[in-house]
Amino acid sequence: KIESLSDLEKLEVLGHGSGGTVYKVQHNRNSSVYALKVIRFEQESVGFLKQAISEAEILKQVDSEFVVKCYRVFDSGRDSEKGDLCFLMEYMEGGSLNDLLRCHGRLPENVLIGMAKRVLEGLKYLHGLHIVHRDIKPSNLLINAQGDVKIADFGVSRMIAGTLDASDSCQGTCAYMSPERFNSDNRMGSRCDGFPGDVWALGLALLECYMGHFPLIAPGKKPDWATLMCAICFVEPPEIPKTASPEFRSFIYRCLEKDWRMRATVTELLSHPFVIKYNSSA
Ligand code: ATP
Ligand code: MG
Repeated sequence: KIESLSDLEKLEVLGHGSGGTVYKVQHNRNSSVYALKVIRFEQESVGFLKQAISEAEILKQVDSEFVVKCYRVFDSGRDSEKGDLCFLMEYMEGGSLNDLLRCHGRLPENVLIGMAKRVLEGLKYLHGLHIVHRDIKPSNLLINAQGDVKIADFGVSRMIAGTLDASDSCQGTCAYMSPERFNSDNRMGSRCDGFPGDVWALGLALLECYMGHFPLIAPGKKPDWATLMCAICFVEPPEIPKTASPEFRSFIYRCLEKDWRMRATVTELLSHPFVIKYNSSA
């Protein structure tokens, strides 16, 4: 049982993100290994920190083999003016899909097919709890020692962005934001609830893994906000290489449908021929 942060020893830095640092940590007494994400808050936002912690309570209720487990949330700033918000998570040995891309350049379809299935199962679970992830991207899809992919960081960045900015602005990156999220004039009545945005981001992340670079922008370029927004909202989806199977192309195009009302849902995608092909080959 972990009582406080002092029960944990930092072993190494696993990575840095826009909001903080992730460490590999070990329990002092039973030597279990975890990942600890530390997000630093400045003095003026300590009030928001408290709110973020109460929202983080929902994280602990999430329990699925397709979602990285968050065991505890620590507020190390309780007694000081500065606060660290710490998330104790399941340690994922294999790192993220981003790390995998850095090593291998790109991933073959037969690997992506199993990953797609697991991420869809994870989204089905979260959406069933009325949770929109809102930050699906290769660096938030993590792999464990068995090679299984799980969804990470759901809620964390959204909570931080949502509570501190009270807006849907580009915190970190907006590269995986769906077209409807750029449209503030999402009229009442047909207002998007956010679930289709997770499907868009999944399609984009899988295509990125297949192509080896962010698919909407020419490789090597670092786009400004306007270029990115234009590519997402107005430019047709990119040509998928001829090497891809018809099922994979169709799957990706169903995710990258610009109009969220036309986009495939998670349920539809779980019975898409691309995923069915995996079921019958596994
Ligand atoms: P951003 O902050 O823009 O969302 P990010 O997702 O890369 O980017 P973090 O979530 O802080 O930022 O994660 C940083 C890195 O730490 C990840 O890319 C991943 O390699 C590693 N990491 C995060 N969580 C875990 C975990 N539970 N187990 C193992 N490694 C992890
Ligand atoms: Mg992350």
